[in-house]
Amino acid sequence: MTVRVSFAKRLVSIASALLIILATGHAFAKDGVPAKKLFGGKALPADMPAQAYGFYSKGCLSGGMAIATDGPYWQAMRLSRNRRWGHPQLINTIEKLARQSAQYDGWPGLLVGDISQPRGGPMLTGHASHQIGLDADIWLTPMPNRRFTYAERESTSAISVLKAKSVVTDPNIWTQAHGRLIMRAVSYPEVQRVLVHPGIKKKLCETWKGDRSKLNKVRPYYGHHYHMHVRLRCPKGSGNCRTQNAVPADSGCGAALDWWFDVALKPKKPSKKSKKTSKPKKKRQIMLGDLPSACAVVLKSADPVSEEAVTFRSATTARTAFAPLKPVNSPFSMPALVPIPKPRPFLQ
Ligand SMILES: [Zn+2]
Repeated sequence: MTVRVSFAKRLVSIASALLIILATGHAFAKDGVPAKKLFGGKALPADMPAQAYGFYSKGCLSGGMAIATDGPYWQAMRLSRNRRWGHPQLINTIEKLARQSAQYDGWPGLLVGDISQPRGGPMLTGHASHQIGLDADIWLTPMPNRRFTYAERESTSAISVLKAKSVVTDPNIWTQAHGRLIMRAVSYPEVQRVLVHPGIKKKLCETWKGDRSKLNKVRPYYGHHYHMHVRLRCPKGSGNCRTQNAVPADSGCGAALDWWFDVALKPKKPSKKSKKTSKPKKKRQIMLGDLPSACAVVLKSADPVSEEAVTFRSATTARTAFAPLKPVNSPFSMPALVPIPKPRPFLQ
């Protein structure tokens, strides 16, 4: 009998020890959740004044605003990703670019790609940057003359402006309007830089007849021949936002651009090292503790009353002012335009 009791006692103590191990293990696992999972799980922004915290590739966003899925001169793509969120200044800039490029540049409207998650932060898929609500991908494919369905916004692909398997623009795809769209984006003082493929930069260097003083803000980079990446400076009121180095004053059309074609984009000769011996480096995950401390507050902060309350739509004036342009002979009716939601502190 006594043997049985002590055995039962033992079982209990083993079970409780196991529980403790499980519990502590669980706590450890929770601490170990990568920041992308924490931020990727948020459906709505932090209901706080608009601020960008940290750097484009390591930070977060409070007071985010969504761009509406449809505007007079834009359509947001890949809606399931819920990356239509940005600092209100960026959302304003996208709306302005959409409207002005339609009015002046012959660009019928923007297809808006990824901006940021509702509270910014690292993402579960793609993008090292886009974390503080100041980066936006704008497709280099003009908006069609109709409204895409939700399913089409998931499946439609952007069109590369480069010739197939080449590093130069395709004359059958590239138009002067593409150039005007990019140059309009860099003309805005709040835009710090726009990333495009070196082939696009080269085309602009060779053909841009307008003001060339902002060509330096068009920055060559890998990829970016399906879309351009628009990056804003740290906005006023974002004291914890880290500015990126200024772009060089030089147009960047000379030796710096040649390097891309002579070195960076040259097909690589197969290296003597066997692939088996060189292990791919595993990148360390960004954890919450790696981000500015304010990001923990941003994560915990309450949601706004509704998504609608923090979604930007064009003011009705924009609709009347640009009505004669008739950008869409859409089989779909235009979405109802509602007044801009109550301004957040940034906009006042
Ligand atoms: Zn981007």
